[in-house]
Amino acid sequence: MLFSREYKKSDSIVNVGELRIGGTDPVNIFGPCAVESYRQTSSVASMLADRGLRIMRGGAFKPRTSPYDFQGLGEKGLEILAQIREQYGIAVVSEITAPEHVELAEPYLDVFQIGARNMQNFELLKAAGRTDMPILLKRGLSATLEEFLCAAEYILAEGNQQVILCERGIRTYEKSTRNTLDISAVPLLKQASHLPVMVDVTHSTGRKEIMLECARGALAAGADGIMAEVHPEPVMALSDNKQQMSFAEFDNFYTNLL
Ligand code: PEP
Ligand code: MN
Repeated sequence: MLFSREYKKSDSIVNVGELRIGGTDPVNIFGPCAVESYRQTSSVASMLADRGLRIMRGGAFKPRTSPYDFQGLGEKGLEILAQIREQYGIAVVSEITAPEHVELAEPYLDVFQIGARNMQNFELLKAAGRTDMPILLKRGLSATLEEFLCAAEYILAEGNQQVILCERGIRTYEKSTRNTLDISAVPLLKQASHLPVMVDVTHSTGRKEIMLECARGALAAGADGIMAEVHPEPVMALSDNKQQMSFAEFDNFYTNLL
């Protein structure tokens, strides 16, 4: 298998502009759950750029549990991200949810995210594999590590070697967190595969009061970076309004993570 350490012994590095994901220093990806407006997204970009961060996230196509919830701004959201990339010189990461988004989204983005709900959308994986865009692939809600790695293989097998794995919590019986962060996935994935591994502490825990400890734990376990959500006004957010950090909460999180 192309993902495996048997196939390639040395750690793979995914290059996003001058950023090296999987290199010696962690690369963290922060930003709002969804792109809601130019104003909201640029406010986050400006705050991140002030702290020296060179990459941000923001969803334009939001895979929501309920069809009546905010679904994202779609192409308008991608346009906002591209505008922000230009203005702040910051790389942008956003989720694509259908094979036809590949061609649509490529000019606007630096990294395609494939979310937990689409980890086994094989046509999407193959379409993403036919590009040379970096792909941030999230672990499915109930996916085993083997299934997760096989999903990555679909991308690699089409020729795209720029894959980042992202642990984002799995379904268990435990109700005190949104999902159960599987820390053991980090060293297991690093041992089985040469691909970089990130950990999303927002969607795994859903609890701001433990995100810092979980992020530290992930880095100690060998993660190549952390993903977390931050919003200028979390209570007003159109998605994930309980788990996005305010700028003050983010400051505390980020300062203590370093
Ligand atoms: C996200 O990162 O915006 C997201 C929806 O995460 P996940 O696919 O892990 O649920
Ligand atoms: Mn979210």
